[in-house]
Amino acid sequence: MDVEEFRKRGKEIIDLIADYYKGVDSYPPLAQVEVGYLAKLLPTEAPLKSEPFEDIIADFNAKIMPGVTHWQSGNFFGWFPSSYSFPSFIGDMLSSMINCIGFNWICSPACTELETIVLDWLGKAFGLDESFLATRSDGSSGPGGGVIQGSASEAHIVAMLAARERMLHTLRDQGLSEEEVASASTRLVAYGSDQTHSSGQKAAMVIGCKFVSIPSDDGLRLTAAALARQIDKDRAEGNIPFFVCGTFGTTNTAAIDDLAGIAAVAARENLWYHIDAAYAGCALVCPEYRQLCRGAELADSFNVNPNKWLLVNFDFSALWVKNSCYLRDALSVTREYYRNDASDSGLVKDYRNWELPLGRRFRSLKLWFVLRMFGIEGLQQYIRRTVALGEWFEQQLLSDGRFEIIAPATFGLVVFRVLPDAVDLQRHGVDPADEGAVDSLVSDVDERIYKLMIADGRVFLTDSKVRGRHVIRACFGGTHVSQKTVQTLITVLKESADKILGRP
Ligand code: PLP
Repeated sequence: MDVEEFRKRGKEIIDLIADYYKGVDSYPPLAQVEVGYLAKLLPTEAPLKSEPFEDIIADFNAKIMPGVTHWQSGNFFGWFPSSYSFPSFIGDMLSSMINCIGFNWICSPACTELETIVLDWLGKAFGLDESFLATRSDGSSGPGGGVIQGSASEAHIVAMLAARERMLHTLRDQGLSEEEVASASTRLVAYGSDQTHSSGQKAAMVIGCKFVSIPSDDGLRLTAAALARQIDKDRAEGNIPFFVCGTFGTTNTAAIDDLAGIAAVAARENLWYHIDAAYAGCALVCPEYRQLCRGAELADSFNVNPNKWLLVNFDFSALWVKNSCYLRDALSVTREYYRNDASDSGLVKDYRNWELPLGRRFRSLKLWFVLRMFGIEGLQQYIRRTVALGEWFEQQLLSDGRFEIIAPATFGLVVFRVLPDAVDLQRHGVDPADEGAVDSLVSDVDERIYKLMIADGRVFLTDSKVRGRHVIRACFGGTHVSQKTVQTLITVLKESADKILGRP
């Protein structure tokens, strides 16, 4: 493919993409294929000779597309969304055009400098404390700043590595020998709650420390008191607490941990305080959400994924740290082949020292286009529209009378389940006084309703368990979710419930 053919084909592909997005709601949101379907359709070896473009596109349409789950469909309400926008698409295309590997400033100064600037813009748009920013309001630059990670999971790992580094510094400062520090490093303990995203435990696995999931309270939140109790227990056993993750918007129910209370414990006990706001943090672009995040200003690191709910195409995870020196100490490995005058001067950021990989794409272009083309007001409108759709769905559920809300639509996520009163206990031979039997029947009925909705195929949403009870989750943050698609969701839910429960 030469440049003129690229010009021609590229335009055709833009048409294909535009047509896809125009009709995306008409696809079944969940791929309707069997496991291993693709191996039956594709050859077992790569072609030896070049193949015509038309054949490849024909195969893309006939063989690849049927195996795609349409996350961008308005009928997709699963997990947390992967929102997109055309401005972000364009930023991504230009990133592909430049195709630099921006590990050091010199690799493409614009790649590094735009990242620093747009993460400051975004941090300000979220109302983050300015100690997280690279440049403060008085123009001075501090040790803080933002960096784009590939995912919140990577952010969790690098935050934990920085935390470990800080703790090892502290132990050395306390006069421990290198041997004692090495021994202490085997007794490090990281904390989250039983609702913390799995990436907390994975980060601990990667860095080789213990991870304790502290039981959450009735509101599925990590509390300061529970954290303090667990720390006391671990210290008594000779362990060294060093890290805690507080979550702003848990995966299961979008619950908010006691962020301010945890901050106080973390400060007293010298723990690194990481806040995982992967999904719900996007809402901070609207000032009315900021009081829910009080305490975040006291954290050491703060993470939000604009690729979930802020119209930036995957992948884009923003991590801010107050003191990047621990990140850099934990992650810098310099070889002669990376050295250059700019790096040696110490005046530039070399983001390879802020992340796990060496290579990095020019991802900041996506956010730059999104922030400029929507403006902060456009993003606020998007978040509020999503939340309003969730609230409307919630009202429909409540007026139906057969469901209870487990998590309200504050963040455009509604978690619900069938009410015990809506289930005919007598027909199932269950004694109403037997709480365990009622619970398990209701969970079973809830799951059957959910499975019927998925089998129907018009919509896709996910389920989970909260305190062992089956629940259904519907998230309204996708770019194409609309009143029309939410109406389809309500229809499918009511029809499925009618079949399992009988009409209300
Ligand atoms: N944190 C929370 C609260 C999440 O809900 C998720 C994923 O949904 C993650 C972290 C992990 O996100 P990522 O895929 O960016 O690693």
